[in-house]
Amino acid sequence: MTKHIFITGGVVSSLGKGLTSAAIGMILERRGLKVSMQKLDPYINVDPGTMSPFQHGEVYVTDDGAETDLDLGHYERFTHARLSKSSNFTTGKIYSQVIAKERRGDYLGRTVQVIPHITDAIKEAIHEGVTSDDGRPVDVALTEIGGTVGDIESLPFLEAARQFAIDKPRGDVLFVHLTLLPYLRASGEMKTKPTQQSVGKLREIGIMADILICRTEQPMTREMAQKISMFCNVRSEAVIEERDVEFSIYEVPTNLVRAGLDKLIVERLGLPDAGVTRMDDWAIMLDDIKRTKDSVEIAVVGKYIELHDAYKSIYEALSHSGIANHCKVVLRKVRAEDLTGAPEKLALLEGVHGLVVPGGFGERGIEGKIQAIRWAREKGVPFFGICLGMQCAVIEYARNVLGLEGAHTLEHSPHTQHPVISLMPDQENLHELGGTMRLGAFRCALEQDTLAHRLYGSTMISERHRHRYEFNNDYRAIFESSKMKLSGLNPERNLVEIVELPEHPFFIGVQFHPEFKSTPLIPQPIFKGFVAAALAHSRNGGRERVRERNHA
Ligand code: GLN
Repeated sequence: MTKHIFITGGVVSSLGKGLTSAAIGMILERRGLKVSMQKLDPYINVDPGTMSPFQHGEVYVTDDGAETDLDLGHYERFTHARLSKSSNFTTGKIYSQVIAKERRGDYLGRTVQVIPHITDAIKEAIHEGVTSDDGRPVDVALTEIGGTVGDIESLPFLEAARQFAIDKPRGDVLFVHLTLLPYLRASGEMKTKPTQQSVGKLREIGIMADILICRTEQPMTREMAQKISMFCNVRSEAVIEERDVEFSIYEVPTNLVRAGLDKLIVERLGLPDAGVTRMDDWAIMLDDIKRTKDSVEIAVVGKYIELHDAYKSIYEALSHSGIANHCKVVLRKVRAEDLTGAPEKLALLEGVHGLVVPGGFGERGIEGKIQAIRWAREKGVPFFGICLGMQCAVIEYARNVLGLEGAHTLEHSPHTQHPVISLMPDQENLHELGGTMRLGAFRCALEQDTLAHRLYGSTMISERHRHRYEFNNDYRAIFESSKMKLSGLNPERNLVEIVELPEHPFFIGVQFHPEFKSTPLIPQPIFKGFVAAALAHSRNGGRERVRERNHA
């Protein structure tokens, strides 16, 4: 008897609907309930895999290899919900299913229409999203509907949610609407009109909001809540404030508990109630973050640096590791292109305590990444390369240490003499770009007594992939006779997954995306070790500076 919550957004986009949905999932879990989480996206791409990170931010990858919206990253960081291909549906995915059925003749004789065929497919998708990993039945299934109420694109999803609710017994479905109370500095007032209008829009399509979560800059007064309640036909205790956080997004769940949202949802859905939402460890973590004084500066050298969302999970994972190492991670975002050419440009990296080169596609900026890695390798600055970042580390080492002139990846240099990164033989005839990568979780065996082994404390791990190109095994022998260690291998396909330099303070490149499995309370081991190494580097660097000063 799963209950359902739909989360919609009004007034403007970018209100943090994904984060709020994840926070709701988390506080329900911490009240003893089993939750599942799902996102419905109104755009027509079948998945975000072929969209530029500039358009859409990062593509988040699940264990089963789905390329999904980055909000799913929030869900996994905040809850234990099992996410899979059924956790993210787009208009494109729904329509392709319906059109494939039409071609098969499943609707023979009928006109295929948005209502009921598309809406039925959406309702099925909502049911599919209710998944549990441990056999425990799901108490609450949360479905976030992307876009802003009033958009043309999201209409079929909202219509399907409306129908879904009337198919269920009364009281089994809850509509939570996230809205904005803009503050007008000139008049010193918070305005409720946009909220009234967006709730009205929802009502027009037959959805009555049960709970309003109001994003605000300033505290929402009781009178304000009452006014919203009266105009929006939502009980005043169900008008919840979600004020801008002071120092960390991890305050959101705690603030929602303080505002009474956990209790309200449990009551409204008639759920068995543990009576208390356990947030103790979370509160300790928040206190730790507040008290932290130490900091390290990490350079992230990438192609999509202007957009924070493009490397969302990496930034999150770095901040989790900051929490674990009791230091604040200050980011220095450097456009890879800005490092290309004259060596003086590397001055942009001066003073950082660690370097991350994230994943990416396309040629732009690749030489800048290679330069940065060389700098970190030669200067003994902690380095962490992820996916393309690992491939660049291999190329840099091949060119500058192994003397393989012009070494490159086949992705960018199809005629290179030394394709140290290449395609696997079974991939060579691929023509389509959508959904043709090595995607999802793969096992990786770690060699004993390597950095990777020490960090994970295990000899077999599993991490998520999203790439087409691989370390070229033809070059394995040359690398093995060098100081670069190939410390992690995929046992099934004999693929190199991790490279490291044991003589360097911290130098590791991984073919997978470890950032997807980091959470605030359990940071991913490589990130944790990397930030620890950066902290050590900052202290050593500091000592050296003191010594220099004393000698001067
Ligand atoms: N473009 C590279 C590949 O396809 C790396 C991909 C990535 O960094 N995610 O192999």
